[in-house]
Amino acid sequence: MSVDKWQWLDDELARLKAKNLYRTLKVLDGAQSAHVSWQGRDMLMLASNAYLDMCNDTEVKAKASAAVQNYGAGSGGSRLTTGTSAIHIQLESELARFKGREAAIAFNTGFAANSGVIPALCASPDDIIFSDELNHASIIDGCRQSPARTVIYRHNDMQDLAQKIKAARFSGHGLIVSDAVFSMDGDIVNLPELLQVARQYNLLTMLDEAHATGVIGSTGHGVEEHFGLPGQVDILMGTMSKALGAEGGYVCGPQKLIDFLRNKTRSYIFSTSLAPGVMAAALCALRIIEREPQRTAALQDNVRWFCQCLRQEGLAGHIPAQNQTAIIPIRIGDEAKAVKAAENLLAAGYFISAIRYPTVKRGQAILRAALMSSHTREELARAARAIALAISQAN
Ligand SMILES: *Cc1c(COP(=O)(O)O)cnc(C)c1O
Repeated sequence: MSVDKWQWLDDELARLKAKNLYRTLKVLDGAQSAHVSWQGRDMLMLASNAYLDMCNDTEVKAKASAAVQNYGAGSGGSRLTTGTSAIHIQLESELARFKGREAAIAFNTGFAANSGVIPALCASPDDIIFSDELNHASIIDGCRQSPARTVIYRHNDMQDLAQKIKAARFSGHGLIVSDAVFSMDGDIVNLPELLQVARQYNLLTMLDEAHATGVIGSTGHGVEEHFGLPGQVDILMGTMSKALGAEGGYVCGPQKLIDFLRNKTRSYIFSTSLAPGVMAAALCALRIIEREPQRTAALQDNVRWFCQCLRQEGLAGHIPAQNQTAIIPIRIGDEAKAVKAAENLLAAGYFISAIRYPTVKRGQAILRAALMSSHTREELARAARAIALAISQAN
């Protein structure tokens, strides 16, 4: 009798469903914004990465449309063959200027940037990578694709990092890599101490600003501005898919780093380059952030207000004492309870994600609220009330 060659897929899917880990899609009817349409209903969006509401911005969309007219729908090739147009160069030069660096290189996604750049930089078994235990999956995959040894240090624990560097023996070069803003907990890397440790041991530093650009620092320039340490990080990586509301990843740094990465990064070399429309959108959003720092200020103000509302609703024990990013983790603990609370909120018209194992540790499930600059105070106060109610009814 022949065996069904697909049986193992059925088995694995059944196993995921039995463990409550099977994921499905929620299909939105229109654009991503502070309000979205889902199953014909108006929902308040509290789970989006579009922190500055750029995906649906009129000016951004007009620039994207115009770029499609001028440069075409697709780019037609990889960067080193036929896929570099004037707009690629312009985007990279403005990203470099925004971050105060000599040069920048754009990737198709933030994922492609991290997963490609880390193995390009650490290409020998003699090299070593020190990586925070809560770093994003794309950094983890970059480490896995590198022949270098990866040493994981405790989350944002610079003493543990220093001890692990001291104990490590390596003859090649070393890299410390960390999220600037951690994607689930919304906390910020301890940059001053990380830089001190890096200097002491002469290691390269690489920070991922996916959730930092447009969000932290008084004018949204990111982690260096937040700490008042301009120009101190060796390799600044980020995405154009979050606050910039478009698509694509980037790395900023000295010209020689960018020249090296253009020649050595496989995810850059062997992939068709970014499409003109998304680049024009990212470029426009970048200029808006600089022209209208009040957008970032409004986002930061919303964060303070929303946390205050959550405390007023009795949730002080569920949120961090200090929260300075657009990500607000609301601690629930039990996975089933977190899922139930998110379902209650969905039914009440609020889009908010329950994050559970394996994204966070077992028994440490959270509701992960993500704010936008365009949420109103009234909406956020209402949302805080709805969240408190949904949690109390999830028992
Ligand atoms: C989202 C994210 C990425 C990946 O960026 P994409 O552009 O979505 O591929 C990388 N790092 C962090 C920390 C992220 O949150």
